Amino acid sequence: MKLKRNILLNPGPGTTTDSVKMAQVVPDICPREREFTEIMDVIRKDLVRIVHGDLEKYTSVLFCGSGTINMDVCLNSLLPLGKKVLIINNGAYSKRAVEICQHYGLNFINLNFEYTQQPDLELISKILKENIDISLVYATHNETGTGLLNPIREIGEIVHEHKAVFVVDTTSSYAMIPIDIEKDNIDFCMASAQKGLMSMTGLSFIIGNKSIIEASKDYPKRSYYCNLFSQYEYFVKTGEMRFTPPVQTIYSVRQALKEYWEEGEKAKWERHRRTFEALYNGIKSLGFRCLLDKEVQSGLVVAVRYPDDKNWDFSNIHNYCYTRGFTMYPGKISSMDTFRLCALGAINENDIGKFFQVFREALSYYGVSIPVIYKD
Ligand SMILES: *Cc1c(COP(=O)(O)O)cnc(C)c1O
Repeated sequence: MKLKRNILLNPGPGTTTDSVKMAQVVPDICPREREFTEIMDVIRKDLVRIVHGDLEKYTSVLFCGSGTINMDVCLNSLLPLGKKVLIINNGAYSKRAVEICQHYGLNFINLNFEYTQQPDLELISKILKENIDISLVYATHNETGTGLLNPIREIGEIVHEHKAVFVVDTTSSYAMIPIDIEKDNIDFCMASAQKGLMSMTGLSFIIGNKSIIEASKDYPKRSYYCNLFSQYEYFVKTGEMRFTPPVQTIYSVRQALKEYWEEGEKAKWERHRRTFEALYNGIKSLGFRCLLDKEVQSGLVVAVRYPDDKNWDFSNIHNYCYTRGFTMYPGKISSMDTFRLCALGAINENDIGKFFQVFREALSYYGVSIPVIYKD
């Protein structure tokens, strides 16, 4: 079967290889059969290995759902009664974590920073000192809304000095930016299959410290479906998910992992970097301005300011490119109009070269000046 290859520059799901797509087509199987649970067992170990976790100390817990399920699970499951969560909030995804805390009525501190800047580490330390009841700290690695990279290792060190548990949303960095769970001072990280792993939607996973999960056994069970300990315990006892897993996605993940190890951590990250550089340089050469300074960018997402040109209309440009196989994506901050281009997925710098031919054509077609213009 020959499928059209679309280049997705949105922040996930990303472009996948045909072999990953085709891996979903398998004979029907009941996921409670051993043949299937054995596949999940191998996948669970591989997911820990990707962040260099010691399998004695770390485990992974799978859930059926999109990436937000991981955020929900970690926040609602890992907070003991009478304790507080600290959310380091400098982007749309950490804001979502705040909303989850509000939803569950958790006791939390929303520590807001500028969405274009890395957080102030001294302030984090001060807040932790002043609030000895904080037992859980939450941060986002790559804030996908802007492409801002947070200094996880440094934040984690402070969190651990205060004996709190550190949860990091690595959904848009896992299996791309090399992560070492132990060295990076992470207790829990997370992702879903359709981002760095370059697989299909429907499977999400949390990788974390077994003894902390075991200690959470008697914490309040605030959700019936989305509880970390319950799902973990079920895996330990049966090797299965508590409820129906995304069967076909799991087959695609098995293939995606095979391709991950074949490409290799270093080569894969270098490919994403080259893809990003091609995006960044292409944007700059057309005169566009980025939202963030280059030093704080993750190297996976570039957020670009709309030019001040009466002929600029994002949806026109988007539609022109979309019908030619390239998907652009709107921005995610309310204070400024931006669009985003991402270096996730099974794409490389050559694809970006082709994208810019089409993008440039789209700008000319709609009469947008090149180089683009800004009033200030
Ligand atoms: C994609 C993403 C998520 C999850 O979003 P879903 O729409 O639920 O898949 C969470 N955090 C970050 C940083 C992300 O990039």
